[in-house]
Amino acid sequence: RQGELKLFLMAITESFESLAQYKQIEFIRNINLDDKSYWFDQDKTEKIVTNLVSNAFKYTAAGGTVSISADLVDNRDLSLVVTDTGTGIPKEEQEHVFSAFYQTKQAASQQQGTGLGLPLVKELIKLYHGTISLQSEPGQGTTLTARIPVHKEAFDASVVVDDSDALSPFYIGHQT
Ligand code: ATP
Ligand code: MG
Repeated sequence: RQGELKLFLMAITESFESLAQYKQIEFIRNINLDDKSYWFDQDKTEKIVTNLVSNAFKYTAAGGTVSISADLVDNRDLSLVVTDTGTGIPKEEQEHVFSAFYQTKQAASQQQGTGLGLPLVKELIKLYHGTISLQSEPGQGTTLTARIPVHKEAFDASVVVDDSDALSPFYIGHQT
């Protein structure tokens, strides 16, 4: 659906202001969009943004900084950059963090989360033929950079076809 992407991103990120205050983390929001309408799915976009931003808060200690920048590229793609000054991810673990249930040894030892946030983000972005990449320096921080098409053709092409057969091994309950 077409809608005001700027207003939506302002609202979603706004909801992290109180967490930032609670955790004593500086939160910088640069939503550099115009007020025009773009093609995006509210639920999917919300999941992408909240997973990236909540990771940044989760893996950053008090006194750190989390920032999100949103820009429009070529009037077609949303560029999202989420940066934190947190724990970072060890080099040898970086290639695994987009795999289902994967958590770094450090995160797993603290038993927080399920390791499904980034895989979900990756799948959602794939629906739009967007891209996501990770840069991280252990002890310094992490940056996730996503590019998500927000024009009509990408939106129309992202409609999920009925793929229920592929899911059947995990089906729980009565199949009708
Ligand atoms: P969930 O999101 O399902 O609650 P999770 O946050 O552990 O759990 P993912 O979001 O998939 O899972 O992230 C996978 C792993 O990647 C995390 O466990 C963590 O080790 C690492 N990670 C993700 N984002 C960051 C970040 N911003 N800084 C440091 N490590 C991160
Ligand atoms: Mg997560």
